[in-house]
Amino acid sequence: MKLQGKVALITGASRGIGRAVALELAAQGAIVAVNYHGSEEKALAVRDTILAGGGQADVFRCDIADFRACEEMVAAVIRQYGRIDILVNNAGITKDGLLMKMSEADFDAVINTNLKGAFHCLRFVSRQMLKQRGGRIINIASVVGLRGNAGQANYAASKAGIIGLTKSAARELGSRGITVNAVAPGYIESDMTAGLADAVNEAAIGQIPLGRFGRPEEVAVTAAFLSSDDAAYITGQVICVDGGMAM
Ligand code: NAP
Repeated sequence: MKLQGKVALITGASRGIGRAVALELAAQGAIVAVNYHGSEEKALAVRDTILAGGGQADVFRCDIADFRACEEMVAAVIRQYGRIDILVNNAGITKDGLLMKMSEADFDAVINTNLKGAFHCLRFVSRQMLKQRGGRIINIASVVGLRGNAGQANYAASKAGIIGLTKSAARELGSRGITVNAVAPGYIESDMTAGLADAVNEAAIGQIPLGRFGRPEEVAVTAAFLSSDDAAYITGQVICVDGGMAM
């Protein structure tokens, strides 16, 4: 129970990696604010699973692409729990397409959710963490932000942006005991990758030394480690959880 009593806000915690992070942090004793946007029933199910296990959690609906809505969500979490010790910026979307055909709307949607959404939450949560003189921020990036990927220019730009955001925030907030790190998953089993064509799956597995997709739980334990006191001297890092894909 390394996170006993810590208050954690996890964006996009209704499904996939965010859900696994919520359950892992709760299993380690954290009180979890489960953010979601569209999947209310799934978010409530995550909350109920945590409550059934004897933990504490509640749901907070917010479109993280909306600056003011993020301000309100962070204020609501602080009203309810009095503090925020851990922020996991996990929510993300894809809108893939070749550059020549990519619409401005698809480029903007991905940047606004993945990159600006992380900035919005970091902006308001860091103010609270500065008052508390400590905190842990974990941003979920992607190996695509390190390597690029044909057909994902918008997504890769958003994830490379997250890495720059992470390092800048780590430099700005370090003197106040706040660490900021990124986790860069490779291919992970979730709704995001469920629709990939067989040929794409096979090509992806061919690039992964461990020869398989990762599980959301394998990303979650890394986020939990970075949230804990054990990671007190780690900041500004990008930890790949990718089966060796990006090395
Ligand atoms: P997923 O299964 O598609 O889940 C996405 C989550 O993000 C959902 O909980 C969704 O909530 C939330 N979300 C989307 N837009 C939102 C918004 N505007 N406001 C608030 N929440 C929003 O995706 P995943 O695979 O778990 O991915 C999680 C993160 O890991 C993403 O940042 C993704 O880029 C990154 N990642 C994934 C992989 C992979 O292979 N799966 C690899 C590298 C990085 P609602 O359903 O409630 O709207």
